[in-house]
Amino acid sequence: MKRVRVRYAPSPTGFLHIGNARTALFDYLIAKHYDGDFVLRIEDTDIERNVEGGEESQLKYLEWLGIIPDESPQKPNPKYAPYRQMERLDIYKKYTNQLIEEGHAYKCYCTSEELDEDYQRQKDAGYASTRYSQKCLHLDEETKKQYEVEERPYSVRLKVPTDEVYTFEDIVRGTVTFESKDIGDWVIMKTNGIPTYNFAVVVDDYLMEISHVLRGEEHISNTPKQLMLFRMFGWEAPLYGHMTLIVNENHKKLSKRDNSIMQYISQYEEQGYLAEAMFNFMALLGWSYPGEKELFTHDELIEVFDESRLSKSPSMFDVNKLTWMNHQYLKDKTDEEWLAFVKPYASKNYDLSAKDEAWVDQCLLLYKEQLQFGAEITDLIEMFFKDTDLTDEAREVLAEDSTKVVAQTFLNNLPSDWTVEALKEAFNATKKESGLKGKPLFMGLRVAATHQNHGPDLMSSLYLLGRETIEKRLTDYVG
Ligand code: GLU
Repeated sequence: MKRVRVRYAPSPTGFLHIGNARTALFDYLIAKHYDGDFVLRIEDTDIERNVEGGEESQLKYLEWLGIIPDESPQKPNPKYAPYRQMERLDIYKKYTNQLIEEGHAYKCYCTSEELDEDYQRQKDAGYASTRYSQKCLHLDEETKKQYEVEERPYSVRLKVPTDEVYTFEDIVRGTVTFESKDIGDWVIMKTNGIPTYNFAVVVDDYLMEISHVLRGEEHISNTPKQLMLFRMFGWEAPLYGHMTLIVNENHKKLSKRDNSIMQYISQYEEQGYLAEAMFNFMALLGWSYPGEKELFTHDELIEVFDESRLSKSPSMFDVNKLTWMNHQYLKDKTDEEWLAFVKPYASKNYDLSAKDEAWVDQCLLLYKEQLQFGAEITDLIEMFFKDTDLTDEAREVLAEDSTKVVAQTFLNNLPSDWTVEALKEAFNATKKESGLKGKPLFMGLRVAATHQNHGPDLMSSLYLLGRETIEKRLTDYVG
C-alpha cells in the first residue's frame, strides 16, 4: 500500500476555527492511524484575505490541541518543500506551461469588464448559470501574436473537456459523479501569475504525494475540477472524503457571525477548556465509535479511528457535552495538576500572592469536584476574596429568628484554636444548645457567616474565611 500522507491545508485568513480544527484533527487521525504523515501546507494564494499572524495562530493552536504536523513550513522535508504556496509560484508556472503546450489550457486576454459584460448578457438571456464564452480559445494566430508582442496581460484557462464524467468513491458519501459539461473553462492562473486554488492544490497534492484528501463538504464541488487536472496530467488522484457540516443546536450551519457559540480554539483555551477534552470532543463531531464509550485519550483515538465511521449526517456542536467532557477530564487530574491548571485562571482576577500558598491551595481545592472549566473559578471563589452584596435570597434567611439564634450560639462557641475540627465541635455544640437542626441550622449558619446561600463544605469555608471575618460578621448581625 502507498504510504499514507494526509494534508491539512489552511488558508491563513483567520484564526483556528472549530470547523478547521475538526478537519485538521481527522486528517491527523487518519494519518497517524495508518502510521503515515500529517502534512501542514499553507494555502496563502488569496493574498488579499491573508491576515497577519494567521499562520502562527493556526500552528500554535494545532500544537496546543496535540495535532503536531510531521511536515510544515517550520519542519520541511526537502523532498516536498516549500510548504507555503506563495513560495511555489515557479512550480505552478511550469505546470501551467505544460498544460498550454499540450493544448489543455490557453491564454485568455479578456479584461474583467469584458467578462462582466458577457456574463450579464448571458443572465439577461435567461441562462441559469454563466460560463466563459471561450472567446480566447478561438483567437486566430495573428491576434495571438499581436497580443504577445503588446505584452497584454493574460490569465490561463483550462480547456474543459466536453463529455467527461468524473466519478469518485467519497470516503464519507460513497459514489459521487460530476460531468464536465457542467463546468466552464476556468482560470488556473490569474493575470498576476498566482494560481487559483483548484490548480495549486492539484499540483501540490501530486508533488507532495498526498494519499487522502479529507476536507469539509464545501469543497465537494471543487473535486471534479481537481480530478479533471489529475486526468489531464496523467497522475493518480488521491482518495477524497468530504465531511458533513457542523451545526448549532438549532441545526443551522455554524456561521462565523454567530456569537452564541465560541467558535475559535483560542477562546476555549482562554475559558479553561483542556486540550485533551477538546481533542476528544472534536473527534466525535462527525465520527463515532460503536458502543457507549465517549472518553478517549489521544492515543486511543489514533488507535480506534476508522474512516468508515465518518458520519453522513451533520454533527451538532453541543457545548454542554463539551463542558461535561472537560469536567470529567478535570476531575481526573491529581490535586497538583489540577491546581497548576486552575491557578492562572484564579490569579487573573484575584491577587493570590497576597495569601498564604497553603491557604490558596485549600481554597481552590474546595471546588475540584465542581469546576467544569478554568474560568469558572472566578465566580466560585469570589466570597473568599471580596465582600459581596447580600442577595434577596440571603436576606430572607437572615430575617429568620432561628438564624439569629444559630449565629449567637455559634458565636458563643467560637473556638480560639482555629481548625476545621474545632469548628466542627463548635457547630455540634451550637446544634445541641439551640435545639435546631436541618435547614434552619445549616442554612442559617452558612448565610450568617459566609453571606452566601450556596457554597462548598461549610466548616472548610469558615476556616478559610478566618476567625476575624466570621466573628465580625456574626457580631454585626446579632447586633
Ligand atoms: N485552503 C483550503 C481551505 O482553507 C483547503 C481546501 C482543501 O483542503 O483542499 O478551505
